[in-house]
Amino acid sequence: MAEDHPQHELAIRVGSLHKSYRLGDRRVDALNGMDLEITEPGFYAVMGASGSGKSTLLHLLAGLDQADQGTLEVLGTRIDQLPEHELTRYRRHTVGVMFQRFNLLPTLTAYENVVLPGVLDKRPPAELRERGMGLLEEMGLADRGRHRPDALSGGEQQRVAIARALFFAPQILFADEPTGNLDTHSSERLWSTMEDLADQRNMIVLMVTHEAEAASRCRKVFLVKDGCGAGVIDAEDLEPSELAARATAITRST
Ligand code: ADP
Ligand code: MG
Repeated sequence: MAEDHPQHELAIRVGSLHKSYRLGDRRVDALNGMDLEITEPGFYAVMGASGSGKSTLLHLLAGLDQADQGTLEVLGTRIDQLPEHELTRYRRHTVGVMFQRFNLLPTLTAYENVVLPGVLDKRPPAELRERGMGLLEEMGLADRGRHRPDALSGGEQQRVAIARALFFAPQILFADEPTGNLDTHSSERLWSTMEDLADQRNMIVLMVTHEAEAASRCRKVFLVKDGCGAGVIDAEDLEPSELAARATAITRST
């Protein structure tokens, strides 16, 4: 099944984004004028210290939470202005999301987790089967479909999570520290998968990571500090050590 994508610019634009949380009587400014612009498909990274606002940024981009101020334009649509029912559709169909903790449902098999978005959307069984089996196969999990998450390795669980995120063939994938719980080998495999998605499916893949090795595979790295954009590094052709050094230098000087 190929989703029909309307013609629109494959781009993400974040302008002066503000988001604060209330913690008791304290206010935490998680985003404080964040800007970011992506105008071409590719693999991109977001880096920054813990607490700098990276997850908040991804949550807002994925339509999982609402900003206080600022603009969020994705694929030509101002998602900060969408009514709730359209935001739900955006969350389910337009973008895919994956998290550090995989967030699979423990009582469902790998196959059932992958097709869950289609089940919630009341898609016909034949389509569920075709998409589900195709995605499991694409992720190298063809023989794992009947296993529950606790019978799978971390790397396998995260590949199930990617397959689920791709159910509706989104043009954008957001990943928040997707290899934070994985060993080196599984991490490298996942980064390659994300690179391939960007190249072969012409997707924007935006990943939060702490690992320079992951970021060095990306086109650009967006640095975040204290809820703001601190700089952008053209990461193509940079070695991980060089990238890490530049990121540190830029983050220190801003
Ligand atoms: P990062 O992903 O870069 O570590 P976050 O976006 O998770 O940063 O958090 C940014 C700031 O907002 C931190 O100070 C964090 O404690 C705070 N924060 C995030 N989510 C919440 C929440 N739901 N309630 C209160 N404070 C939050
Ligand atoms: Mg985070």
